[in-house]
Amino acid sequence: MSRLIVVSNRVPVPDKRGTAPAGGLAVALKTALEARGGLWLGWSGRSCGEDEIGPLTSVKEGNIEYALTDLTQQDVEEYYQGFANRVLWPICHYRLDLAEYGRREMAGYFRVNRFFASRLLPMLREDDLIWVHDYHLIPLAAELRRQGVRNRIGFFLHIPWPAPDVFLTMPVHEELLKGLTEYDVIGFQTVHDRENFADCLARQGLGKRLGTTRFMVGEQAFTAKPYPIGIETDEFAGIARRASETTLHRRMLQSLDGKALIIGVDRLDYSKGITQRIDAFETFLTRHPDSQRHVTLLQITPKSRSEVPEYEAMQRTVAEQAGRVNGALGTVDWVPIRYVNRSLRRPALAGLYRMAKLAMVTPLRDGMNLVAKEYVAAQNEEDPGVLLLSRFAGAAQELKEAVLVNPYDVEGTAEAIARGLAMPLEERRQRWQGMMATLRENDVFAWCRAFLDDLSGTARTTAPSA
Ligand code: UDP
Repeated sequence: MSRLIVVSNRVPVPDKRGTAPAGGLAVALKTALEARGGLWLGWSGRSCGEDEIGPLTSVKEGNIEYALTDLTQQDVEEYYQGFANRVLWPICHYRLDLAEYGRREMAGYFRVNRFFASRLLPMLREDDLIWVHDYHLIPLAAELRRQGVRNRIGFFLHIPWPAPDVFLTMPVHEELLKGLTEYDVIGFQTVHDRENFADCLARQGLGKRLGTTRFMVGEQAFTAKPYPIGIETDEFAGIARRASETTLHRRMLQSLDGKALIIGVDRLDYSKGITQRIDAFETFLTRHPDSQRHVTLLQITPKSRSEVPEYEAMQRTVAEQAGRVNGALGTVDWVPIRYVNRSLRRPALAGLYRMAKLAMVTPLRDGMNLVAKEYVAAQNEEDPGVLLLSRFAGAAQELKEAVLVNPYDVEGTAEAIARGLAMPLEERRQRWQGMMATLRENDVFAWCRAFLDDLSGTARTTAPSA
């Protein structure tokens, strides 16, 4: 079996006690790396002066090596904060209005990808499989190919791929698209994303489609396919069951004092639809005054990317909005919205999911959304809660039994809250069983296997005639 090389912007390096990293993706990739032996390369998260960049920092655990590189302050500003987070992220989430193009940032993005390629090159063996992750590293294969690498290289995009009318607004769209065609396998979260990508190729007259999943550009054939990412379903369900014995769980139940809990869990990000969600909750409370004092929305929102101005502004907007609703509707012994700006650990989250009668997972656009899946896995099968899920989350293409909502339709979402809270047990059970079966079948380990099977089974330069 070939050795596996994973490359991603950030790397979940195990801490000194060798504790397993949190998060399903990290666990699944670690399992694959253990099976094949391998290397995980990425940015250390540190920045320094140009002449201070030293050799890679290496952490070894069993047959896995974690290799980390520092970047310069300029690299971080241009590649990460600049092009990745202020161009690619908004564009892929359909926010053309927030994209900030700058030649400097674009050049920085390609330069850092070249730098990653140069760091990987000396460590590569001939039959290594290389798996590159996410939008920070789209041009990595092109850079490696330029430096003579013939290995099989796969790419998985964790975020959405937008429709051509949106994607083609990016000044460097051609280079990004062509760069992707240097991979042997390109994985998307959904069929919809793959079709958007195929439409971009067609619109640009790049190559031709050989079949549903096979494409050819120049002499190179490649696969582009959906691989919807999953979670560690059974493990997460176990964590949630055990969480009900913890002190946090008891304290939370006590403080709810019989009120129904609605939960929202999202990084503070404009793609997550948090302000629309609070609007919908407020509308629900005003249209259903009987519910007031009997329902609480717990919105857990760790801050993210605070160095990007839109995120900083959003921090204020959401806090003010939650404060306004609490001021207008709250009473001396009832706070409608509990707004928490801190990050919780997975066991605590799992317990809260299990306690919540309803989860509002209402992003305006999301590649997959793992919170939706975790909420389902955490439920008590005897009395499961209801998942309100945005039809614009990748997860909606799999979790058909969720109550699907359009997050832009505030009144529709408010009515869905009412329907969800009143849903009879039998219907809740049926919906939950359907979703849980999907999550068990397509967990994160199956996702990882499916991608690697395709990558290892794809010979480079196969160019079958159409
Ligand atoms: N998460 C967490 N603590 C928090 C909030 C979120 O561990 O306080 C985790 C959550 O369990 C999930 C992930 O962060 O696994 C968020 O993934 P998702 O796909 O929903 O959104 P993303 O943040 O990747 O856009």
